[in-house]
Amino acid sequence: MDTQTLPDNVLTTQLKKVVNWARRSSLWPMPFATACCGIELMATASSRYDLARFGAEAMRFSPRQSDLMIVAGRVTVKMMPVLQHIYQQMTEPKWVISMGACASTGGVFDTYSTVQGIDQFMPVDVYVPGCPPRPETLIEGIMAIQRIIDEDGLPKGPRRPLQLAVEPSYVPTPQPAGIPITIGGRPLSV
Ligand code: SF4
Repeated sequence: MDTQTLPDNVLTTQLKKVVNWARRSSLWPMPFATACCGIELMATASSRYDLARFGAEAMRFSPRQSDLMIVAGRVTVKMMPVLQHIYQQMTEPKWVISMGACASTGGVFDTYSTVQGIDQFMPVDVYVPGCPPRPETLIEGIMAIQRIIDEDGLPKGPRRPLQLAVEPSYVPTPQPAGIPITIGGRPLSV
């Protein structure tokens, strides 16, 4: 926050900055997890990655108490009206993360029954790539939303979807060489 320190630890700032700081530090996600990406979403909230560090661990399964929808997994045509209905019930200002290849593009499910990208039917603010995305990448996506809230003024009417894409920030490392693979204590022969 852009603040000024006064004697006796008194801080001054603008109301807008305090409001935005409170909003970005208390995101309440509405998880719409339909497939394997949902497991990675659960891992993000668990102790190892600890989404609570960013104030966004209070998952709500009631749309009226949520302001961040995370769509994790594939969405079928039959399911889409339900997703839209839940989105409409969420309180403004609200944001949407499309987590994983299936939610963003249909992934490998190039079939008539799978929606080939939820952004055809609802606004998406941040796309998190991967199949599944790692928890770090999802956290990058949530932090992107937080940066948007920080830079935003107080909300004025409906917003347009922001359509940002997060790039993975980690580099996969190869398996260490020289470690034998065993099954039941016996070496694996390939
Ligand atoms: S993107 Fe991959 S991990 Fe995520 S729901 Fe689709 S198939 Fe599963």
